[in-house]
Amino acid sequence: MPVLQVKGVYKSFGGLLALAGVSLAVERGERRSLVGPNGAGKSTFFRVIGGEHRPDRGEVFLFDQRVTGWPPHRLARLGMARTFQTSSLFPEKTVLEHVILALLVRDRLRRRFWPTPLHHLEAEAREVLARLGLEGREGVEVRFLSYGEQRQVELAMALAQVPLLLLLDEPLAGLSEEERHRIREILKGLPRDMTILLIEHDLDFAYAFADRVTVLHQGQVLAEGLPGEVRRDPRVVEVYVGG
Ligand code: ADP
Ligand code: MG
Repeated sequence: MPVLQVKGVYKSFGGLLALAGVSLAVERGERRSLVGPNGAGKSTFFRVIGGEHRPDRGEVFLFDQRVTGWPPHRLARLGMARTFQTSSLFPEKTVLEHVILALLVRDRLRRRFWPTPLHHLEAEAREVLARLGLEGREGVEVRFLSYGEQRQVELAMALAQVPLLLLLDEPLAGLSEEERHRIREILKGLPRDMTILLIEHDLDFAYAFADRVTVLHQGQVLAEGLPGEVRRDPRVVEVYVGG
């Protein structure tokens, strides 16, 4: 049973057809990279899966359940988490407060009757932050963090939910070389049963990370398959050479 199945999704903005019939199935535990030139429709595709955009046509299934048009919090309840391409943090809250907030939301969505005691949440949040190399930064307000550290906090918030399906939209964008290295290592070390869909412009990483790769071009799937095959596919080479 695929974790995620998308069937013939269309999405247009005014006269612009951003997605023109995209279908895709991702198996449990699979790492799938989604690549393609700027404007190919990758982020729009994530927004359709993530419930921010309702598709004009087509269907989305999560764990065999039809979830087309569901809002993000209902998808989170089924185990989907995502990071955003732009920052969505509270400048005057600390790093630790952000992760505790993510844990509170998780518990709330899972309809736990008894709230987890705050000191348990705090311990769990500190653990997640340590895993992401943010040890020692817990008490710092987010506005004082570097851009790269802010992206790490967003990732920490997503991972705190222990998602079954994680959507990552360009997690390496805008980071320093050192930060890129750290995030790549963290992503490689995530539990194998976590299904991950990755959009990434760093093609070396996108291809190395993935079990399978899907190439989007002008709102359609241009190629899909094993990383080595897709990367050599003449149609894919042409799109990247042609810009
Ligand atoms: P990618 O992430 O692959 O670079 P996007 O999904 O962001 O591509 O964009 C695909 C196309 O849809 C682009 O032409 C973009 O300008 C357009 N687009 C995306 N979001 C919107 C929006 N909210 N309103 C209008 N046009 C949009
Ligand atoms: Mg994008």
